[in-house]
Amino acid sequence: MRQVYLDYSATTPVKKEVLDAMLPYFTEQFGNPSSIYGIGLESKDAITHARTQVAKLINADPAEVFFNAGGTESDNWAVFGIADALKDKGNHIITTKIEHHAMLHSCEFLEKHGYEVTYLGIGPDGRIKLDELEAAITDKTILISIMTVNNEIGTVQPIKEIGAIAKKHGIVFHTDAVQALGNIPIDVKDMGIDLMSMSSHKIYGPKGVGALYIRRGVKISNYLHGGAQENKRRAGTENLPGIIGFGKAAELAGENFVSHVKHCSELRNYLIDEVLKKIPNVKVNGSMEYRHPGNANLTFEYIEGEAMLLMLDAKGISVSTGSACSSTSLVPSHVLSALGIPVEQIHGTLRFTVGDFTTKEDIDYVVSCLVEIIETLRGISSVNSKKGW
Ligand SMILES: *Cc1c(COP(=O)(O)O)cnc(C)c1O
Repeated sequence: MRQVYLDYSATTPVKKEVLDAMLPYFTEQFGNPSSIYGIGLESKDAITHARTQVAKLINADPAEVFFNAGGTESDNWAVFGIADALKDKGNHIITTKIEHHAMLHSCEFLEKHGYEVTYLGIGPDGRIKLDELEAAITDKTILISIMTVNNEIGTVQPIKEIGAIAKKHGIVFHTDAVQALGNIPIDVKDMGIDLMSMSSHKIYGPKGVGALYIRRGVKISNYLHGGAQENKRRAGTENLPGIIGFGKAAELAGENFVSHVKHCSELRNYLIDEVLKKIPNVKVNGSMEYRHPGNANLTFEYIEGEAMLLMLDAKGISVSTGSACSSTSLVPSHVLSALGIPVEQIHGTLRFTVGDFTTKEDIDYVVSCLVEIIETLRGISSVNSKKGW
């Protein structure tokens, strides 16, 4: 059976070039980067090279990139690290209702420990309102954390404007750029970013590795304590092959940026156009203008998304209801709720995310399967039989 993977925002396959770069670091080049003899120093040099590759993709200095276990750890580090470092200055954090759970659940934890958190809402286009952000700032605000690109609806936030507001008020600005990396241009200096979360497995690198960008001069406490790795900022023997893979993936993301964005946006637009043309009562969620190039988030009215997902799976097609992280829970997506979508429509929503290995034939196959599945489901739905469909 044909297999079509349309869930690139959940994770991506490791590219061949990335795997090839990693392989020697499992076997011959296995030295501990902290050891001061030959093969240890070689490992340390390889990590330095990877740090340069990641820094280049975001216009940072290599010394501002701290490798760790991925997006989740980076978000936790940013929030807990600032909450601790600036506890004498204040206890107020501003974020949004649509952050990844790595951010939301970290903020909820802090609320249990005396911190106050403002969760900004979003407009119908999925973007925050800058005047609401500015109005939420108090003299106790120590952190503004707003994601660059949302993982469910793909909306791109006005990061440069947020950076300018944070700077004007002297507040640290963190952004979760896990979905943004490699998909929209990122320049930490130009955008006024102080802290930024990155993850390797969303850009064709291996899982379990990522980095936190920490602008030089930002005061932030450590999150993992132990050895002196990562310039004494993040303890634990480095995930050497993982870091090498992440570096290579970052280099490729920079080199292929223009063709990647063109490829993804063309196929994504083709998918949306075909679906809207061939299936009635479908809505596109979020802004089309400020959007991740590979993301299509679609509501199929009068349909149960879970049923659609399973029927697509039976045809070899992988998509997602909402985000991967909430796919096993029946709680409606917090992002779609924040967009103001009614619960019954949220249950009929699917996220399709295309990537570098998606083809036009894949999209044609998915659309033809969707047409068939929707007809079947709407045919048997009691809501619609009442409407005489
Ligand atoms: C995937 C993702 C994360 C988590 O990253 P991991 O490396 O899987 O821990 C965080 N934020 C966003 C927006 C994501 O898409």
